[in-house]
Amino acid sequence: MYHAGAMAATILVVEDEYAVARGIQYALQQEGYGVSVARSGEEGLEFASRQAPDLLILDVRLPGIDGFEVLRRLRGLGSKAPVLMLTARDEEVDKVIGLELGADDYLTKPFGLRELMSRIKALLRRAYGDLADAVGGRVIRHRDLVVDLERRRVQRGQQRISLTATEFEILRHLASRPGRVYSRRELLELIRDYEALDQDEKTINVHVSHLREKLEDDPSDPAFILTVRGAGYAFAER
Ligand code: CA
Repeated sequence: MYHAGAMAATILVVEDEYAVARGIQYALQQEGYGVSVARSGEEGLEFASRQAPDLLILDVRLPGIDGFEVLRRLRGLGSKAPVLMLTARDEEVDKVIGLELGADDYLTKPFGLRELMSRIKALLRRAYGDLADAVGGRVIRHRDLVVDLERRRVQRGQQRISLTATEFEILRHLASRPGRVYSRRELLELIRDYEALDQDEKTINVHVSHLREKLEDDPSDPAFILTVRGAGYAFAER
């Protein structure tokens, strides 16, 4: 089974308080995590089902449906991603409810970012094993293709393949979850930090076609990056 290590792990932060969300996002990004922020429970659920993050940081108090309901629905949808809940100091009882609903840990506000980071690393390690450790690298292998996420290096056999930052990001996302279908829109959103895009989904086709030319034996009959008709792209499963 493949799991994203910390250098590649994606974390969804569901928090309506802008300053808190930004602080968490910045700290996580400094550690190399991919981070997205949802500002309501509804948005959080939408992002969670679209992005399948490796971990969620979920605030209890949210406008609309609260963190508990988000957690309940998330687990109802079959998500097993670890969830760290954020509670206020006077919400002691919330911790019990949260843990009963399937939260993996909780943190009481206000908290230090160092504490947050150590909780996250522990959760990722518990859920995904030692490869999820921030200091450990992660290497994805499929046949003779080797994607070293930490060193951002790609090889086929002994041959080094040089990718642009955007190509690498697309490959990283796809290969981190073999079989998971990514729409062009989704890929566009995932790589927007790496490139000032014109927000045209066709851009993705171009990048994928370049990737295939570099990776595949026969770009017209790809073995790694598959087209899922009408849906997007997926990395081949073993
Ligand atoms: Ca809140």
